Amino acid sequence: SSKLPVMMEEKKKTFDASEAALLVKELNESFRTGKTKSYEWRVSQLKSIEKMVVEREKDICEALYKDLSKPEFEAFVSEIAMVKSSCKEALKELKHWMKPEKAKTSMETYPSSAEIVSEPLGAVLVISTWNYPFSLSVKPVIGAITAGNATVLKPSEIAPATSSLLSKLFEEYLDRSAVRVVEGDVPETTALLEQKWDKIFYTGSPRVGRIIMTAAAKHLTPVVLELGGKCPAVIDSDVDLQVTARRIIAGKWQANNGQACISVDYIITTKDFAPKLIDALRKGIEECFGTDPMESKDISRIVSSNHFSRLQSLMDEYKVYNKIVVGGQRNQKELKIAPTIFLDVPGDSQLMQEEIFGPLLPIITVENVKDSIDLINSKPKPLAAYLFTNNDKLKNYFVQSVSSGGMAINDTVLHVTVSSLPFGGVGESGMGSYHGKFSFDAFSHKKAVLYRSFSGDSSVRYPPYTPEKQKL
Ligand code: NAD
Repeated sequence: SSKLPVMMEEKKKTFDASEAALLVKELNESFRTGKTKSYEWRVSQLKSIEKMVVEREKDICEALYKDLSKPEFEAFVSEIAMVKSSCKEALKELKHWMKPEKAKTSMETYPSSAEIVSEPLGAVLVISTWNYPFSLSVKPVIGAITAGNATVLKPSEIAPATSSLLSKLFEEYLDRSAVRVVEGDVPETTALLEQKWDKIFYTGSPRVGRIIMTAAAKHLTPVVLELGGKCPAVIDSDVDLQVTARRIIAGKWQANNGQACISVDYIITTKDFAPKLIDALRKGIEECFGTDPMESKDISRIVSSNHFSRLQSLMDEYKVYNKIVVGGQRNQKELKIAPTIFLDVPGDSQLMQEEIFGPLLPIITVENVKDSIDLINSKPKPLAAYLFTNNDKLKNYFVQSVSSGGMAINDTVLHVTVSSLPFGGVGESGMGSYHGKFSFDAFSHKKAVLYRSFSGDSSVRYPPYTPEKQKL
C-alpha cells in the first residue's frame, strides 16, 4: 500500500485543456507586449535556430536515425540543409518582406495613398508530422516567427526521438515566452485544438486534416492544411530512360523510402514501354541499393509497426499478390521493405485507392500516354504530379489539364527545394501554401490601409443628396 502514492506520482499527467488554455494565455500576453513584432526579436530567434542547427546537427541526425534509420546524407539534405536555407533566406529578406507594399488608389479617394501592411496574427499552432520530423516542424515555425507571431509546435509522437529533441532544443535556444513545444498524441493535440488560435498550420493526413478544420471552424480560425494524396508520374516513351529511372528512384525510395508526401505514388506509362522502364528501374535500384536492398544502409526503414502492417496488407491483397515484378522482400522485425514494383494492378485494389506512403510502386499501363490524364483526373487532386517527356505539346497539355498542388516536368520532388515556388495542396491535398515569402504570407494578415489628409474635402460626398449632386 505504501507503493501506491509513489506509482500515482510517477504516472505522467497528460497535457490537458486547462494547461493548454494557460499556455495560450501566456503566449497571447507575450504577443500583446509587442516584442514578437519587432524586427530585432524575429532576427534573434531566426539566428538562434541557425545556431541550434549548426551546433546540434549530430543530435538531430541521431534522432532521425532512431526514428526512421534515416541515412545521414538524406537527413542532411532534406532536413538540416532545408532548415538552414529557410533561415538564411528569411534573415536576408525579412526587412524587405516586412515593408508595407504600396498600392494604387482610386478616383474616389483622391488625394490619398494606400499600402498593404503585413501584420502578425497572434498566437499560432503548428502541428507537424513524422516523415521529415525535423524540417516539417521547424520550417513552419520559421514562417510563424518571421511573420512576428507567438508559436506553439506540436511535433509527431510517431517520431518520438525527434519530438523530444525538438522540445529540448526549443527550450535551450528559443525565447520560451513566445515559442514553445508541446509533445503528445491525440489527447494533447485535442486539448490544444480546443483553444482559440489565430492560425493553425497542420501537416499530415487528409483524415486528420478534417478534424483540424472542424476544430478551427468553432473559433473561425484560419488554417493551412499540408496534406497528401496519390502523386502520379506519367512516363512517355521518348524519354532518356536512365535519367528517368534514376529520378523516379530519387522521388520514391531516396525520398524516405516512399514515406514522403510528394514521393511518386504510382506510375502511368504505355503498354509497350513498361517492360523497358521496369528493366531500367531494376538496374537503377541495384546501382543505388545493391543486389540486396534489405542490407542497404542508404534507405530508411518503415517508421512504425502499424505502418509496416498497413503496407504489408497492401502487398498481400489477393488482387495484387502476383503482380510484383521487382522486390517484394520484407522483414517485420527490422521494419524493412525492399523497393517493390507491381505491374498492372487493378484500379480497385487498395494499392490504387489509398495513398501508399511507402516503398511500393504500382505501374499502370495505358494505350496512349494522353489517357493517363483521365486516370489522374478521376482521383482526388494530388499534392504533386510528374511528367517525363520530350514532347512540348504534351508538357503543355499536362500542365493545363492536371490539377495538383505542384508539378515537376522531367524530374520528381525537386520543386519542393525552390523557395520562390509556393508549396501546398489543392482540393483533397490541402489548402494554403508556404516556403520562402509564402511562409511569411501564410502567417501574416494583409491589412489594407488608406491614408488621407484633411485637404481636398468636397461636400459632394455628404448628405443632403441634392438634385445637383445626383446629376454628378
Ligand atoms: P497524421 O494525420 O496521422 O498525423 C499528423 C499529426 O496529427 C500528428 O502530429 C498527430 O499527433 C496528429 N493527430 C493524429 N491523429 C489526431 C487526431 N485524431 N486529432 C488530432 N490530432 C491528431 O498523419 P501522418 O500519418 O503523420 O502523415 C501521413 C500523411 O501526411 C500523408 O497523407 C502525407 O501525404 C501527409 N504529409 C503531407 C505533407 C505536406 O507537406 N503536405 C508532408 C508530410 C506528410
